[in-house]
Amino acid sequence: MIDALIIGAGPAGLSAAIACAKQGLSVRIVDEFYRAGGRLLGQLHQEPNGTWWNGMEEAARLDREARAAGVEIACGVSVFNVVPSSSGWIASTTEGEIETSLLLIATGASETAVPVPGWTLPGVMSIGAAQVMTNVQRVRVGERGVIIGVNILSVAIARELQLAGIQIDRMILPPVSTVTGKAGFPEAVMRSLLRVAHLAPSPLIRWGSQLMKSSWMQRLGVSLYPSQGFSMWDIPIQLRTAALEIVGTNQVEGVRIARVAPDGQPIPGSEQIIPADFVCIAGGLSPLAELAAIAGCPFAYVPSLGGHVPIHNDRMQTPLPGLFVAGNITGVESAKVAMAQGIVAGLSMADAHGALADSAELENAIRQVGIVRQRATIQFHPDIDEGRATVGQLALASTGK
Ligand SMILES: Cc1cc2nc3c(=O)[nH]c(=O)nc-3n(C[C@H](O)[C@H](O)[C@H](O)COP(=O)(O)OP(=O)(O)OC[C@H]3O[C@@H](n4cnc5c(N)ncnc54)[C@H](O)[C@@H]3O)c2cc1C
Repeated sequence: MIDALIIGAGPAGLSAAIACAKQGLSVRIVDEFYRAGGRLLGQLHQEPNGTWWNGMEEAARLDREARAAGVEIACGVSVFNVVPSSSGWIASTTEGEIETSLLLIATGASETAVPVPGWTLPGVMSIGAAQVMTNVQRVRVGERGVIIGVNILSVAIARELQLAGIQIDRMILPPVSTVTGKAGFPEAVMRSLLRVAHLAPSPLIRWGSQLMKSSWMQRLGVSLYPSQGFSMWDIPIQLRTAALEIVGTNQVEGVRIARVAPDGQPIPGSEQIIPADFVCIAGGLSPLAELAAIAGCPFAYVPSLGGHVPIHNDRMQTPLPGLFVAGNITGVESAKVAMAQGIVAGLSMADAHGALADSAELENAIRQVGIVRQRATIQFHPDIDEGRATVGQLALASTGK
């Protein structure tokens, strides 16, 4: 029996493990991937101040610190069930059962699938798969490709692929359908892009984004939007072009595209096929929260956090005794926010175990999450504060704390 079991060795899980082990708890992390770091491993982007965020190095640092604090890290171990027991929780894993007093689920986020005709052809992958192949496995995903889906994640990963010497022919929208929803509407996409405009290398784009804050300016911007789109790091981003179909016989050979009206509908006669040897589809992220559901945790649907999230308070405690959550499972945000939440969860678990030396440390850590959130370079969803407040109120209603 261990004091704390953490599922997920991403930035949230590793940070929690370090915080908790430093308070004297016996801690084990299990992760189904072959190495620790979670989604940090694929991240490489330049901060607005010019410094580089190298997720691989951050992951290595957290891994070292965790091991130095006495955390046991088991990779290649998948958890498929969690049930409460008389003394805490039992997790069923591919390596047998683990009994623990306290359980933290930090399983991160998953990509949302966006169906595009032809997407089963070899050479079509999710944008996250392209990030892992390029930055973690060091495998070229292709020579010249098209990214379908324009959002903060796909823009950031397009740049990462470009840095690896892969040509991104263009970024375009998916076809409008009930499944693709807002991702196929030029105006909605432009609004979400304005949140990342501060990352743009061109002062003109940064300045333009300031002018585009009002919704009527956004509508005007979409109708006047140049047919060739604009470029970021020389990658053409075409919000008035959509993919109709990915074409090829045995593998990707191209994409059939069309110009679209501001409502996302294809303009007759504008169709053409552009050559490509790979295609990435980017549909956004949602919390990967199945294990919390299996555990019996109550959920709320909060679009500004990315979808269904387990109810939890600002100490990352769920209403179920001994069950904690942290990181993207609680709402899709950047890796730095996940780390800050992980520290809160670790200290909170130590507190629940009666081992927290100084309760001010936990209060400071909770404040720090808000500070890190305000400063985050990458914000996946607007209205994140509102979403967090909603979940906090639901936690208060169900547990009284
Ligand atoms: C494709 C993708 C790309 C992203 N790119 C960026 C980016 O460039 N910049 C940025 O700031 N944020 C990015 N994010 C958001 C990113 O998830 C967070 O920044 C951060 O990594 C979240 O940390 P986490 O610890 O909550 O989850 P993760 O880092 O996702 O770690 C979760 C870990 O849990 C493990 N796991 C999941 N289920 C199980 C199970 N059942 N059993 C055992 N182990 C399990 C996974 O293998 C993983 O290692 C990206 C997210 C995704 C999905």
